[in-house]
Amino acid sequence: MAAQCCCCKAPGAEAAPARPPPEPPPALDVASASSAQLFRLRHLQLGLELRPEARELAGCLVLELCALRPAPRALVLDAHPALRLHSAAFRRAPAAAAAAAAEPPCAFAFAAAGPGPAPPPPLPAFPEAPGAEPDCCPLAFRVDPFTDYGSSLTVTLPPELQAHQPFQVILRYTSTDAPAIWWLDPELTYGNAKPFVFTQGHSVCNRSFFPCFDTPAVKCTYSAVVKAPSGVQVLMSATQSTYVEEEGVYRFHMEHPVPAYLVALVAGDLQPADIGPRSRVWAEPCLLPTATSKLSGAVEQWLSAAERLYGPYMWGRYDIVFLPPSFPIVAMENPCLTFIISSILESDEFLVIDVIHEVAHSWFGNAVTNATWEEMWLSEGLATYAQRRITTETYGAAFTCLETAFRLDALHRQMKLLGEDSPVSKLQVKLEPGVNPSHLMNLFTYEKGYCFVYYLSQLCGDPQRFDDFLRAYVEKYKFTSVVAQDLLDSFLSFFPELKEQSVDCRAGLEFERWLNATGPPLAEPDLSQGSSLTRPVEALFQLWTAEPLDQAAASASAIDISKWRTFQTALFLDRLLDGSPLPQEVVTRLSKCYSSLLDSMNAEIRIRWLQIVVRNDYYPDLHRVRRFLESQMSRMYTIPLYEDLCTGALKSFALEVFYQTQGRLHPNLRRTIQQILSQGLGPGAEPSAEQGGAGADSEVDPEAPALLLGDEAPGAAISLRDVNVSA
Ligand SMILES: [Zn+2]
Repeated sequence: MAAQCCCCKAPGAEAAPARPPPEPPPALDVASASSAQLFRLRHLQLGLELRPEARELAGCLVLELCALRPAPRALVLDAHPALRLHSAAFRRAPAAAAAAAAEPPCAFAFAAAGPGPAPPPPLPAFPEAPGAEPDCCPLAFRVDPFTDYGSSLTVTLPPELQAHQPFQVILRYTSTDAPAIWWLDPELTYGNAKPFVFTQGHSVCNRSFFPCFDTPAVKCTYSAVVKAPSGVQVLMSATQSTYVEEEGVYRFHMEHPVPAYLVALVAGDLQPADIGPRSRVWAEPCLLPTATSKLSGAVEQWLSAAERLYGPYMWGRYDIVFLPPSFPIVAMENPCLTFIISSILESDEFLVIDVIHEVAHSWFGNAVTNATWEEMWLSEGLATYAQRRITTETYGAAFTCLETAFRLDALHRQMKLLGEDSPVSKLQVKLEPGVNPSHLMNLFTYEKGYCFVYYLSQLCGDPQRFDDFLRAYVEKYKFTSVVAQDLLDSFLSFFPELKEQSVDCRAGLEFERWLNATGPPLAEPDLSQGSSLTRPVEALFQLWTAEPLDQAAASASAIDISKWRTFQTALFLDRLLDGSPLPQEVVTRLSKCYSSLLDSMNAEIRIRWLQIVVRNDYYPDLHRVRRFLESQMSRMYTIPLYEDLCTGALKSFALEVFYQTQGRLHPNLRRTIQQILSQGLGPGAEPSAEQGGAGADSEVDPEAPALLLGDEAPGAAISLRDVNVSA
């Protein structure tokens, strides 16, 4: 959508002055039941009350809309069975606003034009306030099934509605056990004292948080007022946050238009610490010193590097909140407030890469968004490219090439698991009705997307000129949603000499083929600048696999891997994992050589070594697997080990460890592990564990979509962790 709109007029203003043509309707999104293409959504206001004891959120939502055509009969929104709608009402925009809407730039224009941030608009009352709104009339509504990840909410509109006439729809609802909203009992936090709640909207979960146009093609500004139990700090992905000194009431305002999936909330025992002029970390008090020491000064360095490359950071603050291990993914680029799992804190280089990746999303993904779920590579491929430009500027080309080699290694591993003709290896994936868009997300979205962007940068011959192009692309499309053709057209018009050479049609490397062919990237980057770091890894791996064992062990012990970068050790262990099961003698020697050393390293390294232990049935190190699983409560550091344990001969060991630790796992994770443990036991023979509330009966497994590949993929559940990466 465009950032400016003058398509709105006051009721009865028939002779309004000529105005620019209306903006085109958003692209059709088969994952959305909504009638987004018939309306323009200017702003949404949320009044929320958090009720952790009941795992319930009470909400009052005000949508500020206008119809693009006269007399629309109904407004259809995305919703979810977890949402219970109590009332719907209609209100015309106040006369002043309606009159202003007729004058260009109309009241519907986004606030970005004026100097300084716009004042927050009035906010809706809390849900428990008396329901009679002034100037409101009640509307009929109905909920229909849509897919297993949502339903459709049809609100009947007054018959006399004119095109471009601003109006509001006011919805009151409660949301219980919603897949977007993760309620954690105090025991699942570090402090064990206060409840914790966070939301995760990507891709299509936020329809269970509030009714919305849940499609990345639609963006709007938002404001919120949130009431929380005392002592609980609330944060949202907003440009302005205010704490109102009355019973824990917080106000938020997002001044730039964002898609529904980027509206995010977190609340808990969170405390801030400044780590830069526009950044602070938020974490539970016991984590705060570690979080601060690892990131202090660094985030500003990354933001400044990104600004030199791609233009000003436009979101004001860049804060980071650390979430408990139950957070189902590693990190989420919620604007102004990156959400990241605290389990990553000890794995320094992974923490750095994950945060820089989210920083890069501020330009690619959040400012310029893929208009359809079928082109998620536009966000992920460009963010990965920008992330690597930032690491090249900050840490040098060798480190960047090492990290890229590590990830491309994983891409080829995924390729082998999927087969070269897998439809999900395309950059432009076809989203079939009913399929959850999150299922389309895989390493190809990131790394094949990255390779295509890298290829474009090579075509223009100079990475700095390509940075200039990307800066111009962001400037042109910021706060809107785009399709791949927008990027490619912009590229060719920025580099007319390339257009003349028809680079888009080069045999074998056609842009069309990049987008629509299955299989590996058509070209991969030259990583020779990383050879000082990758060569020792190759050499050590060769030693262990090619040489006679005695000689290998002797030569290997002369190589001190304790000084290696994390990505070097992880790459080495991944290679050994690929080769597993290894001859028993090799595993014994490897254990002798590395087991104690690796056990003192970070979780990213330990989990890889322990997977080698499990895949090789190496019993002497099994106690380390047990200790690891007893201390790790996150999905990323448990699922891969449980899967390996259950694939091999160690299922009874897995069951035993699970029974001991399950009480400290989030109910969703507990359920996933139960499913892994029950495979092969036959239906109805699942190991019992008390069902824990959140979404226990829900058809939607809210954590599966974020990590699993599509149902259409052979072997169905190949998670990103199967290829040893987080994304
Ligand atoms: Zn990303």
